[in-house]
Amino acid sequence: MAKAKSLKKKKLKKVGAKKSTSDSWPSKKNIFFRPDRSSYVRRENKIKGCVFCAANQNEEAFETLCIYKTELSMVVLNKFPYNSGHLLILPRRHCGDLLNLTAEEYADLHETLRIGLKAQKEIYNPAATNIGMNHGAAAGAGLPEHLHYHLIPRWAGDLNFFPLIAETKVVIETLEQTYQRYFEYFNSLRGSL
Ligand SMILES: [Zn+2]
Repeated sequence: MAKAKSLKKKKLKKVGAKKSTSDSWPSKKNIFFRPDRSSYVRRENKIKGCVFCAANQNEEAFETLCIYKTELSMVVLNKFPYNSGHLLILPRRHCGDLLNLTAEEYADLHETLRIGLKAQKEIYNPAATNIGMNHGAAAGAGLPEHLHYHLIPRWAGDLNFFPLIAETKVVIETLEQTYQRYFEYFNSLRGSL
């Protein structure tokens, strides 16, 4: 009996250790995707260093999940969405403190946040939205060195609580589908802005 107990304890410890080795992407959660995403995941794992800076240095493309860039900000998909349509809005410059943004960067970031919110509303028509930022590692930021707002569309009954505490959920769309929908939306914006 005692032996069985200690074995169980060991197993739990192992699981805990595995959880703490976090991915460089923000807020990795145990999310089920359709298997057709696996080829994408393999490609994505090749990116070294800051994934947001990699997105900034390249053209908007599914490989970096970057949908849209302004002069100083970017709109990127979260690789591990809490809900279909989950966006990240961030400054293009590698910066982990809102107080260190220039006035121009700060203004552009929040204008881009508003554009992202509008895009999300028009594409997904959610009942509500979680807008938030984990400012610093202790606050739960998955990539604290590079600021990013989360923009999460919400529908009544989709989750029990703000999904920071949710361990597992099913995302209905593939990331490819989400990317395509946003990319087309922002393409039409590019002509009008
Ligand atoms: Zn960065």
